[in-house]
Amino acid sequence: PDMVPVIDLATGEWTEGKCKPSTEAPMHRLIFLNKVKMEAVVHTHSPFATAMSILVEELPAVAAASAPYSPVKVAPFEIPGSQEIAEAAVKAMGDHNVVCLLENHGLIAAGRNVSQAMSIAEYVEENSQIAYYTYVAGKMKPLPESGYKIMHDRAVKKLGLE
Ligand SMILES: [Zn+2]
Repeated sequence: PDMVPVIDLATGEWTEGKCKPSTEAPMHRLIFLNKVKMEAVVHTHSPFATAMSILVEELPAVAAASAPYSPVKVAPFEIPGSQEIAEAAVKAMGDHNVVCLLENHGLIAAGRNVSQAMSIAEYVEENSQIAYYTYVAGKMKPLPESGYKIMHDRAVKKLGLE
């Protein structure tokens, strides 16, 4: 635990911990400031999410398991570690989601705890993989709105985002 960098949420200053914070600390911090009920943020460079961030502007629910967190918006490319990428990510998440793709970069997901943020990141990567395969096969078939809306609304409630 003494290695974990602690950052003051109000100032962004690194106050404790032996290891230097990630260059993406500003993006994590801005998400915590905007999604006040979320206590964990996971950022990955997962390959299928990154591929889909280049192919589409919004990732629809293709696999049913990802429906609660779909559709996933793509934040336009910004320099990693910048304030601009932090703002683009928060804007792409909007009020009713806790995950977005980062164009040519990866994904970022928040949750009430680390386990939830991690599983949202995994669902989105899995959905991206299935979306990618169906996209290159020429028939990406998203769920209709009636197929994901109920699950999405339930997730919004469960996450306390309503
Ligand atoms: Zn990154």
